[in-house]
Amino acid sequence: MDYRTFFADRLRGLRDEGRYRVFCDLERQVGKFPKAINHRDGDTHEVTIWCSNDYMGMGMHPVVTDAISETVRRSGAGAGGTRNISGTTHFHVLLEQELSSWHNKDAALLFTSGYVANLTTLMTLGQQIPDLVIFSDALNHNSMIEGVRHSRAPKQIFRHNDPEHLDELLSQYDRDTPKLVAFESVYSMDGDIAPIAEICDVAEKHNALTFLDEVHAVGMYGEQGSGVAERDGVVDRIDIIQATMGKALGCIGGYIAGSADLVDFVRSFGAGFIFTTSLPPGVAAGALASIRHLRAHNELRIRHQERAATLKRRLRDLGLPVMDSVSHIVPVLVGDASLCKQASDLLLTRHHIYVQPINYPTVPKGAERLRITPTPLHDDDLMDHLVASLLDVWSTLGITTRQAA
Ligand code: PMP
Repeated sequence: MDYRTFFADRLRGLRDEGRYRVFCDLERQVGKFPKAINHRDGDTHEVTIWCSNDYMGMGMHPVVTDAISETVRRSGAGAGGTRNISGTTHFHVLLEQELSSWHNKDAALLFTSGYVANLTTLMTLGQQIPDLVIFSDALNHNSMIEGVRHSRAPKQIFRHNDPEHLDELLSQYDRDTPKLVAFESVYSMDGDIAPIAEICDVAEKHNALTFLDEVHAVGMYGEQGSGVAERDGVVDRIDIIQATMGKALGCIGGYIAGSADLVDFVRSFGAGFIFTTSLPPGVAAGALASIRHLRAHNELRIRHQERAATLKRRLRDLGLPVMDSVSHIVPVLVGDASLCKQASDLLLTRHHIYVQPINYPTVPKGAERLRITPTPLHDDDLMDHLVASLLDVWSTLGITTRQAA
């Protein structure tokens, strides 16, 4: 094989389909979010970020940045080992305690990312629980899909957010067969939310464990911000809550929360937990400060939801095709990979607005979109500018306005 032509040809294929990924070169600046400097192509411009997963701006918040810098000064940069071999610092212990209390569970366990938390937990349970069958929502994130795949446990895919289909699939197994239902609360590309209580009804009927990914919900839903399970009053019906510290908490890292034995089991058997250096203590301190702040400030969540609702309403009023999201995510349908990229480029070059195009395989072909994520820090002036700029881009490119189903 000629490796050079292989790689180049495959990359050309991506370019031809308009879905070759080009990153921004952003310099985020404390105190300026959601503005940042973009260094792309040797040019520098101030841009407004409208696609950040730093959903609450906590990555820039002084309670978080101070906690991190003070801890780095006191405790150094890295943790110095895996959790088992000298890498468990006091901040890891405090953070796991805070997480378990936040989610009202016995225990919590940290991982180096949300991706690793999903991969490791599902892989471990699938490998270790004899005869386990995993039931996975059709739109689950890649980290869950890979966890199920690598566990080699038999799997059944249920139609997205469809408890009746889940019920049908579960009915094929007798009550004693071990089962696990894996799903998300907020689905990050469409912004829809799972019917958690109904899924729990079905899971309980069939004696199945429940595994809920709250990556796009922690910090943002519920009185105390621990997610949609809290908002819906169903925390005690979820066996394993999984989430990230990389989005609304503004840091990095992932975790699970659940019963003492289940968490201890993953701690004791999960390769992706055991065999890797633990998070830096500064990160653990920053995430701890972030959770404590978010827990105590429900008004941030109220403002966040208001910003998203206002933006959706304004765009819809102008005829822009905002998809049917019931969350803080505002997806605007373009429906074509190349147009989507052009729309994103034009927003950036003409209006200094940064919204990354979302293309296949992240979303299905024909469902390419701009995924806009307002934060509590996007004020009315910024929103006026975004709305006017989107209208200009839509008319410049002649994108047909059609409402998504
Ligand atoms: N689950 C979902 C639903 C996600 O969207 C993501 C990241 N985009 C992850 C898990 C992985 O989380 P992290 O970014 O912390 O690795």
